[in-house]
Amino acid sequence: METIDCPFEKVYPSQLARDVNYFMTHAYNEAIEAYKKDEVPVGAVIEHKGSIIASAHNQSRSTNDPTAHAEILAISQASHALGDWRLNECSLYVTKEPCPMCSGALLIARIGKVYYGLRDEKMGGVGGAVNLGALPNSNHHFESIGGVMEEFNHAILKEFFKGKRELNTAKKTSGSSRTFEFSE
Ligand SMILES: [Zn+2]
Repeated sequence: METIDCPFEKVYPSQLARDVNYFMTHAYNEAIEAYKKDEVPVGAVIEHKGSIIASAHNQSRSTNDPTAHAEILAISQASHALGDWRLNECSLYVTKEPCPMCSGALLIARIGKVYYGLRDEKMGGVGGAVNLGALPNSNHHFESIGGVMEEFNHAILKEFFKGKRELNTAKKTSGSSRTFEFSE
């Protein structure tokens, strides 16, 4: 598996304070794992009664699967861990606002609550572009809270895409026709 250097270090929070930042830090550490695998650095964890029952990062490129987003993988893990597809007693923590696909999956899974880092006005599915947690005729709604550890979560995405842009420029200069297409 190809690995690249990640300029960010994992953070190990105290186990004693199981607060929003504690869970988001674990999601952030998953984003670092994604970065090292040359994946768009997004990480997610799912909390149930104070414990992390699922932890995943984006794997779309390595698996050639556009649905392999951190949230989707975490939802599957959590459902298996609980032996129940309903996650209404769980909270999801993700470094970037979930896309419409993941927000739809969270709605189907009846997630209790969503905490996210960076808001996404282009593709955010819980308020940035659309809000699937508040469909007027749906019988499940969920609350979402953005801006959690936003600076950390923004910095890692920004650095990743900066690296990709530099790579694209270098390839164009060298005459290579292969470039990476990414958007923030
Ligand atoms: Zn997604």
